[in-house]
Amino acid sequence: MPQSTPLPEGTTLWIANARVMTPDTDWHQPAVADVAIRDDMILGVAPAYGLRPGQVPPETLDARGHLVLPGFVNAHYHSHDVLAKGTLEQVPLEQWRLYALPAQYPPRSKEELRARTMLGALECLRSGMTTVQDMLTLYPFDPEHLDTVIQAYEDVGIRVVFALQYGDRKGLDTVPFWKDVFPPEYHHLLSSAAEPEKKFDLLDYFEQNCLKGPTHSRRHWALGPSSPERCTTALMARTMDMAKRYDLPVYSHIYESKGMALTARQELGQYGGSLIRRLHAEGCLGPQMNFAHSVWLAPDEIEILAETGAGTVLNPQGNLKMQCGLPPIKSLMRAGVRIGLGCDNCSCSDAQNMYAAMKLFSLLAVVSDLRKGPPPAMEALKAATEGGAEGARLGHLIGRIAPGYKADLSILDLADPSFVPLNSVARQLVNIEGGRAVRHVMVDGNWVVRDRRVVSVDEAAVFEEVEAIMPTFRKDFDAITKRVATLQPWLDEAQEKMDAADVGIERLPRLR
Ligand SMILES: [Zn+2]
Repeated sequence: MPQSTPLPEGTTLWIANARVMTPDTDWHQPAVADVAIRDDMILGVAPAYGLRPGQVPPETLDARGHLVLPGFVNAHYHSHDVLAKGTLEQVPLEQWRLYALPAQYPPRSKEELRARTMLGALECLRSGMTTVQDMLTLYPFDPEHLDTVIQAYEDVGIRVVFALQYGDRKGLDTVPFWKDVFPPEYHHLLSSAAEPEKKFDLLDYFEQNCLKGPTHSRRHWALGPSSPERCTTALMARTMDMAKRYDLPVYSHIYESKGMALTARQELGQYGGSLIRRLHAEGCLGPQMNFAHSVWLAPDEIEILAETGAGTVLNPQGNLKMQCGLPPIKSLMRAGVRIGLGCDNCSCSDAQNMYAAMKLFSLLAVVSDLRKGPPPAMEALKAATEGGAEGARLGHLIGRIAPGYKADLSILDLADPSFVPLNSVARQLVNIEGGRAVRHVMVDGNWVVRDRRVVSVDEAAVFEEVEAIMPTFRKDFDAITKRVATLQPWLDEAQEKMDAADVGIERLPRLR
């Protein structure tokens, strides 16, 4: 028996006898330890705590046979199409935009926004995510919709790093060949991503009402310029100015598809065809910047990220389904670029499940470069926790089980086939577990899942709210599907041209 350390004064929750994934334990065989929590904060981790005379902590949990993990950070996600999970298979990214993005849909109801936000957050929580970075397009913008979404996150009890997604160039202008191949009468149907709303200053609204508003311990703000090709130099400059003044993380898509790399080659001759060089020249690169996807980064661009401290958020599920390609994972690791992991939209990734994302990340890392690299399971776990936390500028608060960190954690039952026999916790978490063993989840010191039941909200009632709005959603989705079918010949023509183009690097197998 290890000699006990006195339980810290003020402990409100004592988690005893669990294996605990602290930063310095052996992640293959994490040591058994106790965790002391006071309200929203981890006070200490010790081999074993003992009570002082007369000390009675309000809550104790004997977690023998369990594993305490830092809560995962879903570092790239959009809650606007949660209801579209399971609707699509094998759609190239440029075509997917016409199904999934808010600009394609009639305005949504507040009921739909609330239900979809809660449903997405619940799925995240159940697989042990305690933080989600929502890069939300609200189009057309309605302040009440923003309030509805924020309230839904507060009610569910997940930590959110919230950004509105915006741009000031139309999607049609940024997708290769679309303007050339589509007859002009179809151009109005090709809106894409965050279309600019000329009469409304979204960033100013966000600053006045969100950044200058009251703080909340589980809500953090971020900025979401949709992608550099959809944002002018002036808009990026304004973004970075605001990010610096409020010390905010910035999330932007970059090089998700070959089409995006091709646009850069075509438009950015003065920067060697490179979005990264353009952004570097504009002063946008630094630790505050997170680039979602980063599939078609060139080797010299990876070096620039490493030098400037700008990070990436990889989303392997969506990248495969939408035929975007294989990100240069080992090259990013070797260069020391920060990597977070995300699950992206529900229509492109389907699952908000960090276990699915970690497994794909680790397997794709293996084939992304056949030379030996860092152990992929370990890197997947770091990306899902510390990487995402650092990108959100919360690396001092979340992503670790350590004193002074927030009590954001999940507890897994090791009496599950995933963990029997226990050869390596890290490898079995990444390559076998799928979320089935997640028994309890805590965010900011509050239980949100207890004994596999959501305790913050009535989950069955949320599902009923979703079912009530699905007839409307399905009607709109069917109309969109019919519209895309009329556009298909030209979409295919543009796609073939994109596939045939040479952008100087290859991230897809040459299969057609
Ligand atoms: Zn995205």
